[in-house]
Amino acid sequence: MSISENLKHIKSQLGEGVTLVAVSKYSTNEEIQEAYDAGHRDFGENKAQDLEVKKDKLPNDIRWHFIGHLQRNKAKYITDFIHLVHAVDSFKLLREINKQAKKSNRTIPCLLQMHIAAEDTKFGMDESEIENLIADPKLTELQNVKVVGLMGMATNTDDSAKVNSEFKQLKNLFEKLKAATLPGNVNMEKLSMGMSQDYEIALENGSTMVRVGTAVFKS
Ligand SMILES: *Cc1c(COP(=O)(O)O)cnc(C)c1O
Repeated sequence: MSISENLKHIKSQLGEGVTLVAVSKYSTNEEIQEAYDAGHRDFGENKAQDLEVKKDKLPNDIRWHFIGHLQRNKAKYITDFIHLVHAVDSFKLLREINKQAKKSNRTIPCLLQMHIAAEDTKFGMDESEIENLIADPKLTELQNVKVVGLMGMATNTDDSAKVNSEFKQLKNLFEKLKAATLPGNVNMEKLSMGMSQDYEIALENGSTMVRVGTAVFKS
């Protein structure tokens, strides 16, 4: 199937209000352009400096999502254009994004990454770290970032029951926070979970944003 057929197929599985982020980290600019020409606008990348260069060669109405682990010293490369930062895993990183966003006169939407996978190689915070970050009085001083939801990556396994329970855990925290009284710059709207291998399970568990690379760009 072509990229446009892949996009069509995946989009047909998404419910109302669910966004497909086409993860283009392994794709050429020609492939990204092909998806763009098919009407797609949301793309995900995980290398800040590469993205800064790449975005200038592609249409400027693309909404770029930063989906990977962002090192604090790299935030400055993306803060004047990034649409959403998916994987914030510390207050320090949020503070740095805020500092850079301020220079660009922007308010940047961010998701907090929860560690749900069994592998300890995956970044993210546990439930209490996320709750502590949100409860930190210093958070409201960060006027140039807005926490708009949560993100997580499930274990890379064929065991769909395991993946299912990991996504459930993330969804439960999302709902718990949604029901809580939150600071002014926190609003639980987006739940980013699901990749090529597991986006169907993520959708069953209430994902509002799937990050799919291989299944979009495969031929
Ligand atoms: C690479 C990546 C994806 C997409 O992976 P695929 O298996 O190609 O769909 C999604 N999320 C994150 C954080 C990634 O790094």
